Amino acid sequence: MIIEPKVRGFICTTAHPDGCMENVKRQIEYTKNKGKVNGAKKVLIIGSSTGYGLASRIAVTYGEGASTLGVMFEKEATERKPASAGWYNTVAFEKFAKGDGYYAKSINGDAFSKEVKDKVIETIKNDLGKVDMVIYSLAAPKRKTEDGTIYNSTLKTTEGNFTNKSLDLRNNIVVEATIPMANEKEIHDTIKVMGGEDWKQWIKCLADADVLEDGAITMAYSYIGPELTYPVYYNGTIGMAKKDLYNTSVDINNEFHDKGIKAYISINKAIVTQASSAIPIVPLYMSILYKVMKEKNIHEGSIEQMNRLFREKLNKGNVIVDEKNRIRLDDYEMRKDVQEQVMEYWEKVNSENINNFADIDGYWNDFYNMFGFKFDNVDYSRDINLV
Ligand code: NAD
Repeated sequence: MIIEPKVRGFICTTAHPDGCMENVKRQIEYTKNKGKVNGAKKVLIIGSSTGYGLASRIAVTYGEGASTLGVMFEKEATERKPASAGWYNTVAFEKFAKGDGYYAKSINGDAFSKEVKDKVIETIKNDLGKVDMVIYSLAAPKRKTEDGTIYNSTLKTTEGNFTNKSLDLRNNIVVEATIPMANEKEIHDTIKVMGGEDWKQWIKCLADADVLEDGAITMAYSYIGPELTYPVYYNGTIGMAKKDLYNTSVDINNEFHDKGIKAYISINKAIVTQASSAIPIVPLYMSILYKVMKEKNIHEGSIEQMNRLFREKLNKGNVIVDEKNRIRLDDYEMRKDVQEQVMEYWEKVNSENINNFADIDGYWNDFYNMFGFKFDNVDYSRDINLV
């Protein structure tokens, strides 16, 4: 089968195995070129197959020589449909990592479930003994709890309707979008899915099973962004969940203090991922941000961010944090000169001048690359045997 991209708004329903392999390979090469540093040796990554989780996995393996166990929720190929990008990324990553002599195993299943937590604990006990780092990089649309209840996460505001410019992803036209306000249940349910409850459950299960090294570090990823996106992000339903995630880091530090476990939130930069493309208004902000940061030569994608995290911010025993104990990888994005320029472009941008003020090509290139498409050295005419 010849696999072509099938884009529906903010999602691509196909993925290319060769392109996903190329994506992983480029991230590995970037990390290898930076050389090795001291760091974590045995790392569990929950949400390891795409975006920040995949980049974390690559950065700790090739930057610190770590063994990694990954957890993801991805789809295998069928006779008629290619696998999901995260599936192909993981196959590619394991192939490279094992070929280079690193331990790398992945568990495909629902991270919210007890079954997957048990499987992870068993695998750690059998293969690694204990882990010294746990990265929680889940971005999930829904969560099923043990009693069978399903909670859906919503991307809405919490303080009334919000109208602003937005990019219509079907045709690159700048439109006005109105994001409605969530009700109490939607806010509650989004916190259930994207807040810290499950992160803490993971840490409790791992600590109870005695598979965490003394002094182990756990980290979850978050975002703040500029005031422009506050109604839809920081003060939106997702922002409420992220506040809960932050509070959970404080709880974990208090409750697991005796075991020497340290929890951090890393505030990362806005990048194009499957999760971020789905947030209204954010794709236009991101394409303007890309333009500004590229003009200033400080643009970063997931692998650049994660290398900076492990090399510069998380140097063993010396974690660089702000006044709230958060790691700030959004330092370049939030720079005054960057945000002033973004705001100037935001005011000016419209459908006619969009290429002057927004890096639409860069946005779409990252988007297609995420699903393994539009790499210049991949032969997309190759007939792929799906299964
Ligand atoms: P992503 O969509 O690329 O990755 C999500 C990962 O979670 C995938 O590996 C997926 O398989 C896994 N996953 C989803 N549901 C699962 C389930 N039920 N069980 C097991 N695995 C599951 O997302 P991302 O953008 O890399 O986001 C990761 C984290 O980084 C999130 O917390 C997000 O809020 C945060 N973050 C993202 C950005 C950004 O701009 N993309 C910025 C700052 C922080």
